[in-house]
Amino acid sequence: MPRGAPEALAGQGACGPAAILRRQSLRESAARTYARALPVVPVRARGLTIEGADGRRYLDCLSGAGTLALGHNHPVVLEAIRRVIDSGAPLQVLDLATPVKDAFTTELFANLPPALAADARVQFCGPAGTDAVEAALKLVRNATGRQGIVAFTGAYHGMTAGALDASGGATDVRVTRLPYPQDYRCPFGEGGARGADLCARLAENLLDDPKSGVPAPAGMILEPVQGEGGVHPAPDDWLRRLRKVTADRGIPLIADEVQTGVGRTGAFWGVDHAGVTPDVMVLSKAIGGSMPLAVVVYRAGLDTWAPGAHAGTFRGNQLAMAAGTATLAYVRENRLAERAAALGERILTALRSLAGHHPGIGDVRGRGLMTGIELVDPEAEQVPGQPAPADPELALAVQRECLRRGLIVELGGRHQSVVRLLPPLTLTDEQATAVLDRLADAVAAAELLRNRSGHPPRKHP
Ligand code: PMP
Repeated sequence: MPRGAPEALAGQGACGPAAILRRQSLRESAARTYARALPVVPVRARGLTIEGADGRRYLDCLSGAGTLALGHNHPVVLEAIRRVIDSGAPLQVLDLATPVKDAFTTELFANLPPALAADARVQFCGPAGTDAVEAALKLVRNATGRQGIVAFTGAYHGMTAGALDASGGATDVRVTRLPYPQDYRCPFGEGGARGADLCARLAENLLDDPKSGVPAPAGMILEPVQGEGGVHPAPDDWLRRLRKVTADRGIPLIADEVQTGVGRTGAFWGVDHAGVTPDVMVLSKAIGGSMPLAVVVYRAGLDTWAPGAHAGTFRGNQLAMAAGTATLAYVRENRLAERAAALGERILTALRSLAGHHPGIGDVRGRGLMTGIELVDPEAEQVPGQPAPADPELALAVQRECLRRGLIVELGGRHQSVVRLLPPLTLTDEQATAVLDRLADAVAAAELLRNRSGHPPRKHP
């Protein structure tokens, strides 16, 4: 039995983990995601480690889909939450001013790109990333009086209607989709600086051609590193070009930093790598220090909303603001973005060396502590000039083998063929080694299983 775990949870009876998982599969929606691939019943967590009700320990490189910048239950986060509770402060106050909120806004503004902080407004939204995306789209539509939005292939902005429409795979007529640069599967067959240049040119051309069929948009939304889309860092030069393209044409640029923000990519914000200042930044996940919180920060000139034009009951979560303030301050004071950059380089180097030994790893990508490997089928029929086709089954097998070895990883990418690592920024060198060892073992085991099963070679779609 796990140390100190409630007996009922540790046992295999009606309250044991197997029964809990069985009831979950019977009672919860068919839309369950992580719960399907990760049959874990967490009962305790600290830092990188999660302890399951079955007593097993896992290294958690999913981090609540990139939410836990400081890992689980970091002491500064717990202390901040306890302080609010012990103070007797109200926990929920809509959008009223409180000292807790004031401290959060001060810390947030202190960390924003200086050119934005100098003249910024913040809208506290409903608590999820998708709420902040909706607010941002509505904001720029209101401010510009235009309707169209430019978004990118492979994008992920959330699951509510507007955010979903801006995500790859959607077909909303008000959203124009432009290619996001990617080296491995570059739509122009180029990759690198040339591929990024062509992506930027296409944006310029479509926006300037009066017969392109793309009316002047209300805004352009992009992720500085596409996370769910398969870990694609935006080339710095491409991002600077798009900043210029949008600025020259009076199109607000919205940076969706829901996943990339707060040090994750090796800079405090993903846009910092390119030295770009967006007009609007969408923030959630890490800014709530593991509690639900989302905001949109934008140039004051866009603040054309009438009172009440955007509202929501859950804008006043004091515990999330306190946890978020503590997290932002801890990342800043301990220079965790720089730490993420250094450790991320080490992880990328190790993954590239791993790829050298495993033909099933087609590509290794990442920035800071947002890294991924794309699994492919090297035995498949080859199309000249194209990489091997993605292999989602192999990716799933790697995820499963990771779990068997006590490592929790995320799957993503266009074909769900990218195994992603999103460890906390507090990851130690020793923990990074343990993660990499388990992943290397899991890749070897998954490849072996595939080769043994003599699976038919995949055809290009
Ligand atoms: N934008 C990005 C870039 C994201 O990665 C996510 C979540 N993965 C969202 C928006 C949506 O956030 P939420 O799931 O909290 O609605």
